[in-house]
Amino acid sequence: MRIDPSKCVACANCVPVCPMGAIYIDPAIKRATINEEECVECGTCFRGMSQEHLNPTMVRTIRKLAKTFLFRFEPEPDVCPTAAFQMNELQMPRVVRQVFSDPVVEHVSTGIKGRGTEEVKTNDVHPRVGVGEVGYTIEFGRPGVGVRFRDIQEMTHALAAMGVAFEQKNPITHLMVDKKTGDLREDILNEKILSAIVEIKTTIKEAPSILETVRDVNKRIDTVTAVGISTKCDEAGEDKLLAPILDEMGFSYYRAKTNMGLGRASNPGAVKEEAHDEHLASVR
Ligand code: SF4
Ligand code: SF4
Repeated sequence: MRIDPSKCVACANCVPVCPMGAIYIDPAIKRATINEEECVECGTCFRGMSQEHLNPTMVRTIRKLAKTFLFRFEPEPDVCPTAAFQMNELQMPRVVRQVFSDPVVEHVSTGIKGRGTEEVKTNDVHPRVGVGEVGYTIEFGRPGVGVRFRDIQEMTHALAAMGVAFEQKNPITHLMVDKKTGDLREDILNEKILSAIVEIKTTIKEAPSILETVRDVNKRIDTVTAVGISTKCDEAGEDKLLAPILDEMGFSYYRAKTNMGLGRASNPGAVKEEAHDEHLASVR
């Protein structure tokens, strides 16, 4: 993202709009400026404000006069009066910031916008987590915090050392150069994004050691981490295997999302069709 200094009139409307606090008024040049290191290319400043096309010289002159005569000339708070924002054409590695942070940009690797994964929301249809298994979504970063890929790699290294399988349909997995070590592409390690999700799956027996590892790595990385776990309930809709483990470990948890088994996977005809499609995809 870029702010055109020839257009900016330093009204500061955009400063509170940025979820990363990356925009500031530079007193030396009297223009809004973007801290490139902290900007995650989310596009909020560009899309989140109305753009007016007032003449910058005219606006600056009126603002100067207003100051002299002790009144204010300010645009509406949700407006950039001179349309000063410009979206850059981004290249690798910086473009990963936009792909992970701008909700309207789709991940090429999965065809999904946002963090680029459906997690286990579609477990009815694409059973990622089976009986006796635990699926984990390890989320990094939040607005105002963000995360750099080197911190995500710290976690993927620790998990890979435990022999976990990383979910294939996940953008972070696609950025791995070695899924056995959890190594991410070297060129993106310093890139900062708003948020990302690492997904893995293990047996229920392995859950305590995985959760301990996540807790341990979380202490030494410069971001916030939230863990979601999922498992398949028994026929009565109860979880009698994973819940006691979480209780014993002292985690507080609640059931957040429930797949009711109403997806196409419950329909044997559709499952057959889907299996056929997958086969076709694999032989093409
Ligand atoms: S809203 Fe527009 S004119 Fe105002 S400070 Fe930001 S970029 Fe400059
Ligand atoms: S693109 Fe996003 S992070 Fe970058 S300056 Fe704009 S609002 Fe802030």
